Amino acid sequence: MEIGKGLTMIAGPCSVESEDQTYKTALPLKESGIDILRGGVFKARTSPYDFQGLGIEGLKILRRVGDELDLPVITEVLDTRDVAVTAEHADILQVGSRNMQNFSLLKEVGLADRPVLLKRGMSSTIEEWLNCAEYILEKGNSKVILCERGIRTFETYTRNTLDIAAVPAIKQLTHLPVFVDPSHGTGDPELIGPMSLSAVGAGADGLMIEVHHNPAEALSDKEQAISPGKYSEIFNQVKRMSAFIADNF
Ligand code: PEP
Ligand code: MN
Repeated sequence: MEIGKGLTMIAGPCSVESEDQTYKTALPLKESGIDILRGGVFKARTSPYDFQGLGIEGLKILRRVGDELDLPVITEVLDTRDVAVTAEHADILQVGSRNMQNFSLLKEVGLADRPVLLKRGMSSTIEEWLNCAEYILEKGNSKVILCERGIRTFETYTRNTLDIAAVPAIKQLTHLPVFVDPSHGTGDPELIGPMSLSAVGAGADGLMIEVHHNPAEALSDKEQAISPGKYSEIFNQVKRMSAFIADNF
């Protein structure tokens, strides 16, 4: 898998809940077409009373399922103290929206021998975001992937306002790959397909989509989770669009 060559598809559950749930979600994704399996184990939840993730046990589950299906795995790291153990089990480290400007964390992942997917802070400008990428690059880690995941605006109909214009804007400013997360970007399963196509049309290098084998039962972000069947439809559409763009533009 080479990031930046063709369209890279990341999908998987918001949270790793159990081995059974992770496997049941990942297997059909593997069959549809996926490059990287995602699953949160350290969860940055808005309320401390919500499911906080399985922690290191979750990391091991994600690794086992990834190995079984021959898929690289990505997971979010929240704390500088967990960077080493996360890098031991995961192929790519994710820094979430709420931690985009956690400079100690950025420096620590900058020292790790793993690519880092840096999500845009929900109240951050493009310039602030790129400065955070610079924190990672400056420590010697050149494998930074940017991920637009929506920002807060006056509009509350969608969970966030997905800033698709950020994709071509960033392409003018940096050589770094840019991904789009239409799941957190909209919070609405019906909008994930159209916004995935928009992201590909805008030049995104990849997509990150939340999928659960049984969305109604998901322990986190169940409102935006899509089923593996729905993922498969979206996958086929975005791959066709991506091929059309490669052939015609
Ligand atoms: C996630 O991808 O699981 C996540 C928490 O996303 P964000 O940091 O964009 O809210
Ligand atoms: Mn989520």
